[in-house]
Amino acid sequence: MADAHYVLGVDLGGTKILAAVVSQSGEIKGRAKKKTKPERPADEILGRIAACCREAVEAAQLSWAEIEAVGIGSPGPLDPVKGTVIDTPNINLANAPITGFLSQELGIPVYIDNDVNVGTFGEYVYGAGKGRKHVIGIFMGTGIGGGLIVDGKLLHGFSYNAGELGHIKLVVNGRKCGCGQRGCLEAYASKTAMIRSLQRSIKKGKATILTKLIGNDWSKLTSSVFSQAVEAKDKLVLREIKTAARYTGIAVGSLINILSPEMVIIGGGLMGNLSDLILPIIQDYAKQNCFPIMYEGVEIVPAQLGDDAGILGAAAIAWDKVQAAV
Ligand SMILES: [Zn+2]
Repeated sequence: MADAHYVLGVDLGGTKILAAVVSQSGEIKGRAKKKTKPERPADEILGRIAACCREAVEAAQLSWAEIEAVGIGSPGPLDPVKGTVIDTPNINLANAPITGFLSQELGIPVYIDNDVNVGTFGEYVYGAGKGRKHVIGIFMGTGIGGGLIVDGKLLHGFSYNAGELGHIKLVVNGRKCGCGQRGCLEAYASKTAMIRSLQRSIKKGKATILTKLIGNDWSKLTSSVFSQAVEAKDKLVLREIKTAARYTGIAVGSLINILSPEMVIIGGGLMGNLSDLILPIIQDYAKQNCFPIMYEGVEIVPAQLGDDAGILGAAAIAWDKVQAAV
C-alpha cells in the first residue's frame, strides 16, 4: 500500500451517489455518478455504491493498488462500531452493513461519517477553514446540520452523533420541530420551516411573488427562486430569510460561548447566492449573543466547496484515517 496515493470520496444522498478519486492535496482525478434508487433493497444500493466507486477509479485511469481507502458521507445518525446507518428515512439502508460490505467488496478500508460532519471536515481541510484548528460548520438546507472541529479533530462525542446544531433549543414551547420537540433552531431557520411559515402567511391573504414564480408547487422553491424573490424585494420572502438568519446568529452566539471557535462556516442550499444578505445578520446576532472577548477575531464566512463538498469531505475523512493508521 506504500505506493497508494489516492482515496475515494463518496457522497451518498437520497437521489444520487457521487464518487471521486482524490489526491491528498484535494485534486479530483476522476469521478462517477449513479442514481441511489433509495427504495430498492439495501444490498442493491450497496452494490450501486461499489459500482460507482469502480467507475470513478476507471475514470481516473488508475488501478486499485493505487487507492488506499474509501470515505463515505451519509445521512445519519450512525453506529460507528457496526459501520452502519441507524435510521435513514430517505434511503433504505437502516442497519445495513455499509462499511463491512464495501470493504469486502472493494478490498480496502472503508470509513463512514454523517454528511454534515463530512461537509464540515471538507471545508476544514480543503475549503474556507484551511489552516484553522477550531471550526464550526452550519449547513442551512431542508434541515439544519452542523459539524464541530475542536483542536483539529471532528467532535463525535459519547454517542458518536455530536453536532446536532439544528436542534439547539431557542424558544421555550416554540414552533414544532421535525425531531418531535419544540423551539429548535431548525423549526425557524430551515427551508422546511420557511416554507411552512410562508404557507401560513399566504393562507392569511398576504401577497408574495412566489405565487407567480412557483404557483402551488413548493418543490420548485430552489435557492435561485429565493434569489429572484429577494431581487424583487418580496417582503414576505425577505422577512423569512432574515428570521432564519437571526435565529441562526443567536445559535452561533451560544456556540461561540461554548466552543470558542476561530471560524464559523455557513453553507447549505439556502445560502445559495444570498450570503450577502444572510451573513451580516448572522454576524450581528452572533456578536450580540456571546461574550465580546470570545467574539473578537472570530470569522463567520460562507462555505467554499459548493457541489464538491461531499466528495472532498469524504476523501478528507479517508485521508485522516489513513494517516492516523500509519
Ligand atoms: Zn428539533
